Amino acid sequence: MITLALSKGRIFDETLPLLEQAGIRPLADPEVSRKLIIATSRADVRLIIVRASDTPTYVQYGAADLGIAGKDVLLEHGGAGLYQPLDLRIAVCRLMVAAPEGFDYAGSVQQGARLRIATKYVKTAREHFAAKGVHVDLIKLYGSMELAPLVGLADAIVDLVSTGGTLRANRLAAVEEIVPISARLIVNQAALKLKRGAIEPLLDAFARAVAARDQGNRRDAQAL
Ligand code: ATP
Ligand code: MG
Repeated sequence: MITLALSKGRIFDETLPLLEQAGIRPLADPEVSRKLIIATSRADVRLIIVRASDTPTYVQYGAADLGIAGKDVLLEHGGAGLYQPLDLRIAVCRLMVAAPEGFDYAGSVQQGARLRIATKYVKTAREHFAAKGVHVDLIKLYGSMELAPLVGLADAIVDLVSTGGTLRANRLAAVEEIVPISARLIVNQAALKLKRGAIEPLLDAFARAVAARDQGNRRDAQAL
């Protein structure tokens, strides 16, 4: 049995067409069913539904052989015990520093000011600011980071940005990109060795599905 860990929502929705291409169809919809273990059209492949930030943990400890996780989550986790063979190029966004419109971020940094930064991504943010030599106090939040600068909890935030709509709605602006983000296929390193015969064809199928999708997109773009 091969176990693939996925989170509900964006990751599941954007993985579905790739699974389909690989000949794997889930037999239940996690948005409807309350089941956390979902069988698929392939008797030897099952899905487990986990919280997005827990995906690397399930794969690291071998409770899942494979998983799909955002680069943001993988950076926070650290990647121990994981093999990251494939960028699926889904759930694409950017990890950014954002501050209230009009806040002079570059100036504050240049003057060596100490900044209060609210974020869910404490480890990645700490490493980013340390590499730049910027002094920060980090405040860990679990969501709605955009609120923090509006009510005086922080000077700036580190958060994922896709369209920038949420930032604009809260009169914040992105001031620095930390890293581009997309979801990666991750594999338990020991499972890859022990179940290579079953896992390698799956990796190949995912790689072919990603390539076919991107080729189709390029063709569509050229036809316009
Ligand atoms: P939860 O919603 O349970 O608190 P979460 O916010 O981490 O967890 P999702 O919103 O499903 O879960 O995000 C899963 C992954 O999708 C993130 O780790 C990130 O890689 C990516 N992602 C998050 N927000 C966006 C976005 N606005 N656009 C594109 N990709 C995103
Ligand atoms: Mg979310």
